[in-house]
Amino acid sequence: MKRELFDTEHDMFRKSFRTFLEREVVPHRKEWEEAGIVPRDIWLKAGKNGFLVPWVDEQYGGTGVKDFRFDQIICEEMARVNEAGFFIPLQNSLIAPYINEFGSEEQKTRILPKCVTGETILAVAMTEPGTGSDLAGMKTTAVDKGDHFILNGSKTFISNGLLADVILVAARTDPKNPHAMGMFIVERDQEGFERGRNLDKMGMKSQDTAELFFNHVIIPKANVLGNPTQGFMYLMKMLAQERLTLACGAVGGAQAAYDLTKSYIKERKAFGKPICKFQNTRFKMAEMKTEIDMAQVFVDRCVMDHNHGKLAGDIACQAKLYTSELACRVADECVQLHGGYGYMMEYPIASMYLNVRIHRIFAGTSEIMKEVIARADGL
Ligand SMILES: Cc1cc2nc3c(=O)[nH]c(=O)nc-3n(C[C@H](O)[C@H](O)[C@H](O)COP(=O)(O)OP(=O)(O)OC[C@H]3O[C@@H](n4cnc5c(N)ncnc54)[C@H](O)[C@@H]3O)c2cc1C
Repeated sequence: MKRELFDTEHDMFRKSFRTFLEREVVPHRKEWEEAGIVPRDIWLKAGKNGFLVPWVDEQYGGTGVKDFRFDQIICEEMARVNEAGFFIPLQNSLIAPYINEFGSEEQKTRILPKCVTGETILAVAMTEPGTGSDLAGMKTTAVDKGDHFILNGSKTFISNGLLADVILVAARTDPKNPHAMGMFIVERDQEGFERGRNLDKMGMKSQDTAELFFNHVIIPKANVLGNPTQGFMYLMKMLAQERLTLACGAVGGAQAAYDLTKSYIKERKAFGKPICKFQNTRFKMAEMKTEIDMAQVFVDRCVMDHNHGKLAGDIACQAKLYTSELACRVADECVQLHGGYGYMMEYPIASMYLNVRIHRIFAGTSEIMKEVIARADGL
């Protein structure tokens, strides 16, 4: 289905980002997956080409153009080439927005320009070994000592956990009130801050996902993001964009798996004819195409609503829920249509299948999405 939301400037941006991925990222995929991490150099290259947080205001090194369609294009193009390790959307659309929205002028001036150049890589640390969905159960604490806070606790599953130079760490700030939470800026090599192992995941092989430990880390007041009791409110405000970002990637992932499979089924023969000539294959492809197109229309509408400041949190949850489940269903069906080759890692559909599985889990599981949607509907 022809999409209506992009203009010439978006098409140009897509073309140049696609070329960048094909030249600088795709050829190195295997090497990075084996290393379990991407080199810092690729962040610098992305920055040099204008692909990191381009939306920040000019005084911080960006263009100041706040149009989520550019973020959407990045997600789609990364999904198109099945790049799940070099996590640009995390920097651009999930973490830098916190600093831009709630940071002081001094913090923005200090941190954002280097996020644009790629000298600073960001991470956000909320999940803990004992709690993910239920963030009110968080154990990490930040105690106010007058001119600084003392941070203690541990986090897990943190994307960019090894590479990150600046980490936004969520911590409880009032032992009597589980809803008092703050976000604290922890910088590389601060005393008491340690990184654990690079976690061995089923997919996203070149993404450094790690455990982080904070043992009496001194957080100067200059590194407190906004009001240290309003972290949950900040989360609520930013979650719609986070979920929309992941929905853009999920529907892009479904489309990529579909396209790959469409080529395969025309080539592969069984019983003397290409497998695309079997009714089951054509019906499965038709069902997937229909669902992907319908999901894309919904996501595109969410993107435009978001551009106009009108995207409701529960609608973003609907987008994330539907596209995450769809991406997993489509990837599974596409593996099936590849037969035994679909199970072989040398066929890209196998790693697509493994990469999309995370969508139903991170940034709020599908079950949590359903809770939010039902609650918003008065149930
Ligand atoms: C690859 C990867 C990258 C990640 N990156 C980051 C990151 O950068 N920063 C970060 O902070 N976190 C990150 N996470 C953590 C991720 O957001 C959490 O894993 C996720 O929110 C789920 O939390 P959990 O793992 O503790 O699962 P749990 O909360 O223990 O959930 C387990 C199961 O119980 C279900 N469940 C829980 N509560 C309910 C409920 N009320 N109703 C119904 N079912 C429920 C869940 O849906 C799930 O099926 C990442 C995780 C992964 C795997």
